[in-house]
Amino acid sequence: METLIHPEIFGRHVTAFFTGKSPGADPERIARAASIDKQKIYLPIQKHTDKVLVLDSDLSPRIADAVITSNKGILLGIQVADCVPVLLYDVKRNVIGVVHAGWRGTAASILKKTIETMRERFGSFPDDIKIAIGPSIRWCCYHVGYDVLESVEKATGIGEYHNPPLPPFSKGGLGGFYCLDLASANKYQAVSAGVPKENIWVSDECTYCHPDKYYSYRFAKGTTGRQGGFIGII
Ligand SMILES: [Zn+2]
Repeated sequence: METLIHPEIFGRHVTAFFTGKSPGADPERIARAASIDKQKIYLPIQKHTDKVLVLDSDLSPRIADAVITSNKGILLGIQVADCVPVLLYDVKRNVIGVVHAGWRGTAASILKKTIETMRERFGSFPDDIKIAIGPSIRWCCYHVGYDVLESVEKATGIGEYHNPPLPPFSKGGLGGFYCLDLASANKYQAVSAGVPKENIWVSDECTYCHPDKYYSYRFAKGTTGRQGGFIGII
């Protein structure tokens, strides 16, 4: 069974969806699912950076963990397996974007930087930007040390996206484990960049809780495939 989640927040002018294990992020299968030419799918080389690529007519693969463009006929994609996939759409200027936000990207404010780059390069106003945050590992299953929480908090500010150390996991002092929700942290970052709360949709699914439906890096203990988030004006 194919998992294709179409966030309603974007309306009908864009093609936008998140996938599960099937059809995953394989360009061949995505092209079929979206009824477009495989050559028109753009996937950056992801390296957990904070690099935002502004895509023009040069479709050669480059290192970036966020891509924005006003090109029509291109399907932008991002690949994940627990990390947070984010899709963006400026409804007034017809600019689209994808973001891969793991804890490193979130700690480097990659979503905020993407929104700022849309503003600088295309004149986007945050009020016009709609955002969909796809399935990722959530509070229930993402336990991190204080160092990770601290770096995400420095970028995000104070908010309800983590829980204090759980006694069963606590090793005492600062060595306890925290439940971190990167999807919510990214929502906070978008709101602090000026995007209205009502413009943001967040999936309520956890990839680790549904290993039958989604690839989960932590569930599989490392070796796994990738699902994706895709958006295009096609
Ligand atoms: Zn879970």
